[in-house]
Amino acid sequence: MGFTCGIIGLPNVGKSTIFNALTSAKAQAANFPFCTIEPNTGAVAVPDPRLEELAVLAKSAKTIPTQVTFVDIAGLIRGASKGEGLGNQFLGHIRSVDAVAHIVRCFDDANVVHVDGDVNPRRDVETVETELILSDLEAVQKQISRYEKIGKTGDKDAKARIEVLSSLEKHLSSGKAAKTFTTDFAEYAELSADLLTAKPVMFVANVSEDFAAAQVGDGSCAALDQVGEIAKERGAEVVVISGKVESEVAELAADERAEYLQSLGLKTSGLDRMALSGFELLGLISFFTIGPKEAHAWTAAAGTRAPQCAGKIHSDFERGFIRAEIVSHVDYVACGGEAKARDAGKLRTEGKEYEMKDGDIVHFRFNV
Ligand code: GDP
Repeated sequence: MGFTCGIIGLPNVGKSTIFNALTSAKAQAANFPFCTIEPNTGAVAVPDPRLEELAVLAKSAKTIPTQVTFVDIAGLIRGASKGEGLGNQFLGHIRSVDAVAHIVRCFDDANVVHVDGDVNPRRDVETVETELILSDLEAVQKQISRYEKIGKTGDKDAKARIEVLSSLEKHLSSGKAAKTFTTDFAEYAELSADLLTAKPVMFVANVSEDFAAAQVGDGSCAALDQVGEIAKERGAEVVVISGKVESEVAELAADERAEYLQSLGLKTSGLDRMALSGFELLGLISFFTIGPKEAHAWTAAAGTRAPQCAGKIHSDFERGFIRAEIVSHVDYVACGGEAKARDAGKLRTEGKEYEMKDGDIVHFRFNV
């Protein structure tokens, strides 16, 4: 269990290159638009050094990290919301993801055509955002028509919904994303569930090899700095990646990777940073079940209560939930394992109302 992240961006910005490196899958990376016709899906482990540490202490036979599923979504061009390119077919794929990684081309390469002629992050980002907003606008207008019909039959709720949707329509028409729309209307979450611009977004700046170790705002790559400004305006994060470097890293054996990254001035691969950034973007936490068979990381939204976290492992655990026995990762490591943590009084018993914390190591007690 993890989350799903859709990779979007204009053609030839490096989506397939990054996706391939992420998943080492065989999505086509060719120098022409629309080579990724069906969405490609691949799962990647979220790196978590805590899990490795716990597995060593518990002498677990294997480790099972939590996963991010990446979906390479192709076909977004100017006019997509009006059916250009792959049009609505691909817009539909975005609806099913939890978060969006918006890849922005910052690399210059005369051999790789840019659909709009030159490298210009602001124009590219705005092109993509406009298509998403237009698509949402159409979806909202359809909902308004639907509730107008329902309203004619005397349905009282319809009027309130039309009012909220009409304000949202105005908001989108002024070029703003659904996620910046505020309302205290109780059923808004339901009304906006399918909107593309309501999804959390991270920007991924695909820089050329020479700038792989560049930071936003360090002045070394003007296009990257521009992505930094755009992200700041939207309150979003930027992950700096060089698609070329990542595809080279993906080819290397695990023990050679660290050395290669270091030679480029990098601590971790861009892909690891992308997975982690997605995790933070969605406000997720990790909890662990640790034993001799396996050390297993699980994912839940921050604030999820113990029984629902138990349900991520097995529905019986949630149905028959009695209590959770918990020791924090910090205490577990400091004491040197579960038995010693128990002796030191660090093991707590928590009930149905307990909100699981990031780093909790848990045994769920249940009875069905
Ligand atoms: P997509 O259409 O967004 O999926 O783009 P692709 O991943 O197919 O990439 C289009 C072209 O750009 C391919 O020829 C890639 O090799 C090239 N490309 C992708 N990332 C980089 C990069 O970081 N640097 C350079 N120089 N070329 C890249």
